[in-house]
Amino acid sequence: MTVTTRFAPSPTGLLHVGNLRTALHNWLFARAQGGKFLLRIDDTDAERSREDYVDAARADLAWMGIVPDGEARQSDRFDRYEARFAELVAAGRVYPAYETPDELDLRRKILLGRGLPPVYDRAALRLTEEQRAAYAAEGRTPHWRFRLDHDAPILWDDRVRGPQKFDPAALSDPVIRRGDGSWLYLLPSVIDDIDMAITDVVRGEDHVSNTAAQIQMFEALGAAPPRFAHAALLTGSEGKLSKRLGSLGVAHFREEGIEPQALIALLARLGTSDPVEPFADPAPLIESFDFSRFGRAPARFDEAELAALNARIVHQLEPAQVAGRIPAGMDAHAWEAVRPNLTRVSEAADWWQVIEGPVAAPDFSGDDRAFLTDAARIAETIDWNDAPWAALTGALKAQTGRKGKPLFLPLRQALTGRDHGPEMAALLPLIGRERAIARLRGG
Ligand code: GLU
Repeated sequence: MTVTTRFAPSPTGLLHVGNLRTALHNWLFARAQGGKFLLRIDDTDAERSREDYVDAARADLAWMGIVPDGEARQSDRFDRYEARFAELVAAGRVYPAYETPDELDLRRKILLGRGLPPVYDRAALRLTEEQRAAYAAEGRTPHWRFRLDHDAPILWDDRVRGPQKFDPAALSDPVIRRGDGSWLYLLPSVIDDIDMAITDVVRGEDHVSNTAAQIQMFEALGAAPPRFAHAALLTGSEGKLSKRLGSLGVAHFREEGIEPQALIALLARLGTSDPVEPFADPAPLIESFDFSRFGRAPARFDEAELAALNARIVHQLEPAQVAGRIPAGMDAHAWEAVRPNLTRVSEAADWWQVIEGPVAAPDFSGDDRAFLTDAARIAETIDWNDAPWAALTGALKAQTGRKGKPLFLPLRQALTGRDHGPEMAALLPLIGRERAIARLRGG
């Protein structure tokens, strides 16, 4: 059976880092298994779903290099849900309920007040035909609950969490459809997973109790449940569940100069027993992807770690990968010269400014000024086509006796206006003879 996974966002907001991680897990697993990865838009909630969020989700995945093998949306499939719902009604697995939210809330509070779990008491199952008719006459439309089978525990072997066991009697019969006829995500998701032959549902552990109910829905619909993998959630760097994570998405990472490869390299390994490494290509991440390496503890998402990883990715980027993002005129040599000093690609512009000039050098002492005048004179005589930095510093060392910092620092300062930066051996040919001589002269 071909492994088929799906990432199923509800387009009621932008994807945040937790969603991106779930998408990545689904994609990596499908690729590792030679399977398929689908994007499913869970847009049953017409009021809160927005088309621009659908577009943004696609664009965010594309930015990460995640291309789905297919796409579906729940709003196209309402007829299908209606048909399968009718089967469940006929089989007595869904039932109408008339309680108002306030009534339910009150019952929950009473149970909690008695120290009991706030499980729905199934009062609606005990309604007589007359009582239902009376509600209908009052103009109340029912919402619908899925009747959990209480006869046996719900069991599954989670790819991350291991063997799972739920007592169905400890769960409320889940509401699957609202009074206005709109769907909650639970049942449509199961119908889709069956129709799309999803073999593996990969999502966050906030869905674990949904899974228990959904396993019974698969069975009620005559299908074998897929395998499940519930990853532990992300926490902020402060160690607690952080609101900030909910607002961190692709737009933020792009603004921060984060490369998609860095985000992928971090999210693929975060919370696993494999080390986070700066893979500029996802192939090794796909190859090594294994749910049995996932830990049960929440994984700490640290933006500083991401920034450090990003720098190590930038140092590997080929000129073609930064085309259009570095200054016009900056060729492959220049990119390779400055690349080791960047933490983000946009900083290449700063070094291009250093190469092109003008640069502002510090005020040098008399000694250094004389040394630089010597340097300018030597710079006029060396062969600029053959390792000019070695030639310049070699001749200066011989002539002045300077070595180490007193030799190199004033040269770097005069030539670049800075104390640190890329290798001068790589930078000097890019600055070139005329500009270098002028800068050494202090002009
Ligand atoms: N739309 C659901 C969510 O975003 C999908 C959960 C699932 O993967 O089944 O939470």
